[in-house]
Amino acid sequence: MPLKTLIGLTRDQLRSELIASGVEEKSAKMRAGQIWHWIYQRGVTSFDAMTSISKELRTKLAEHFTLDRPEIVEQQISEDGTRKWLLRFGPGIEIEAVYIPEEDRGTLCISSQVGCTLTCRFCHTGTQKLVRNLSATEIVAQVLVARDALADYPAGKAPEQRRVTNVVLMGMGEPLYNFDNVKDAIGIIADGEGLTLSKRRITLSTAGVVPMIAKAGEEIGSMLAVSLHAVRDELRDVIVPLNKKYNIDTLLAACRAYPGVSNARRITFEYVMLKGVNDSIADAKLLVKKLAGIPAKINLIPFNAWPGAPYECSDWAQIEKFADVVNAAGYASPVRTPRGRDIMAACGQLKSESVKERASAKFAELRSAELQRMPG
Ligand code: SAH
Repeated sequence: MPLKTLIGLTRDQLRSELIASGVEEKSAKMRAGQIWHWIYQRGVTSFDAMTSISKELRTKLAEHFTLDRPEIVEQQISEDGTRKWLLRFGPGIEIEAVYIPEEDRGTLCISSQVGCTLTCRFCHTGTQKLVRNLSATEIVAQVLVARDALADYPAGKAPEQRRVTNVVLMGMGEPLYNFDNVKDAIGIIADGEGLTLSKRRITLSTAGVVPMIAKAGEEIGSMLAVSLHAVRDELRDVIVPLNKKYNIDTLLAACRAYPGVSNARRITFEYVMLKGVNDSIADAKLLVKKLAGIPAKINLIPFNAWPGAPYECSDWAQIEKFADVVNAAGYASPVRTPRGRDIMAACGQLKSESVKERASAKFAELRSAELQRMPG
């Protein structure tokens, strides 16, 4: 029988597994706490390293369980220091995670699904059909892989020495379509004795799965980002097809009502800059008008090209003009610097390596045919 992993179990699940493997019920809670500490605070990968636990129990644990990481198919490092890992959880089950170091922080961008069902027109991940949801184990494992590579476990480290200071669920997939696993994973990542990132430093990004937004605020409690990208329904219907189900006003109403939203906990609105599509000054004005009254940050994302993409990035001069309108409305420094473009690690460029090549030629054809039918 394959060994069960202890990574990504909630504290209760961990305790139950220990009991099932023969640990006495009365000491299971204490043992779970010890093991939790070794896994998340110290990053050990073998039971043998858990020196606060008796040799006998360590041997028993090793007979039942594993702390193995997923297979790292590839690690790439960009000229700007961005790192990207291609991880494999099984045959054909591959995802990417990206680490973005900055002056004052380090952000880890993780995936919640293999592929994505949303088919946003400008997103590379959306060209890969969904294979499946990631389990909580697989989501948490992405953080462990990054911490392993960066020697970044919290035990004995001052907070200012931390390298992964923020986590964003902005990789592959729609987190709100994988609610339970994302919730459990964030619980572990934010656990004060676990990976210890505060929920204020964890951001869940959604394309706008409206019925799950309030629930996310109540049960997950992370920061929220919304991939808006257009302020007119006829355009958003095309570039973010989920809009046909939940339109812009419905989405913004859910944002206004997001539990915990305040000026100190703003919602980030992402807006990808597509040349001649959504980047007019009229759209900029409509954007600030629509967001009025929502405690918001606006993030203008220069479009990152991928092979066969049906769009181009707006000209820099146009991004600046658009940003001026947004600035004048009181939103500070709204343009997101593209990172890791040279290793295809930038927003919307993530995809399982194995499907990249064969898909891109086909999509170039398909998308250019579609593009000719596109509204302005
Ligand atoms: N499904 C969620 C999580 C993915 S987040 C969501 O849509 O929010 C990935 C972010 O990168 C989203 O804001 C997405 O719209 C943006 N993005 C996708 N493709 C992009 C591209 N080619 N260039 C720039 N940003 C892109």
